[in-house]
Amino acid sequence: MKEKLIKALDLAIAKVLSVRRNEDDCLIVLAFHSVVDRMEDLQSGVLDPFQPMTIQDVEFVATLLRQRGFSLVTGHDLDAGNVRGPAAWLTFDDGYANNLKLLPLVRRNDMPLTIFISSGNVASGEAFWWDVLFREETKRGTPAAAIAARRESLKACPPDDIRAAIVTRYGEGAMRPVADIDRPMTPAEVTALAREPLVEIGNHTHSHTILTVVDTGTQLSDIRRCQEELHRLTGRLPISIAFPNGAFDRRTLGAAAELGLRFGVTCLPGQARPASLQTVNDRLTIGRFASIRHGRVERELTLATARTGFGQLLAERNRRLNSERCRS
Ligand SMILES: [Zn+2]
Repeated sequence: MKEKLIKALDLAIAKVLSVRRNEDDCLIVLAFHSVVDRMEDLQSGVLDPFQPMTIQDVEFVATLLRQRGFSLVTGHDLDAGNVRGPAAWLTFDDGYANNLKLLPLVRRNDMPLTIFISSGNVASGEAFWWDVLFREETKRGTPAAAIAARRESLKACPPDDIRAAIVTRYGEGAMRPVADIDRPMTPAEVTALAREPLVEIGNHTHSHTILTVVDTGTQLSDIRRCQEELHRLTGRLPISIAFPNGAFDRRTLGAAAELGLRFGVTCLPGQARPASLQTVNDRLTIGRFASIRHGRVERELTLATARTGFGQLLAERNRRLNSERCRS
């Protein structure tokens, strides 16, 4: 409720203050997951319809951003130190094979983007657990709100426990993807994807571990395993990481830095300033807007590109608090 109020207020302010000027030194990072050809594809119930986006929605996002003076960048551009002015970084989490549908768009529109891959699903070919939960519970007639509550409670567990809970309830066979839209990329697809000059492949941990629920050693080993697997498949070590569920703590930042990761993106909806990404903590805790979805593209994008609103102030406060905890 409070969030809705803040959003409404921010939207009103954004409309009055209009669009930011081109010379502003800001970076906005946008988070997406699955993409589908048509919204009807989600009616099959095989994919958790969390934050749905069609290919056309993604194209619309890129077009709007460019119209508003934003250039599109990735972690490689940040690493090269040549990001100036308003810039936007389009990111896709998890490593869904459906993301490959974006490639014609990437090539046609010269649209760079980053895909953060959980290498464990690529290796096993198993569906993502939240999709299995959604599919199986939908079949059983469970209301959407109850499924979402179950999903959130499972997120408090380490990945092995989550998988065990899912398998116990629905059987081992339920882990197999049932359609092309719910499967992870294959190892060969990841290898081929790495040859796309405009696509950056990033780390999303091996087991999609919500890092703050595991011990220090597990944080390090799960991030490292993803680095190694992606290096094996692509010939390159990722330089960017998206923390699953945006969750990080002091140990996470230490592990990511130790493994040579240069940029980390969170789920705190705040803008960054490329010129001010000087410390390791700043580079590894870049804010990210994860609320753009079908039917809400223009509204959410207006909020993300607006001059800082109350929602972003809150996110920045949380980031600072978290960073302070990280330093202590
Ligand atoms: Zn994820």
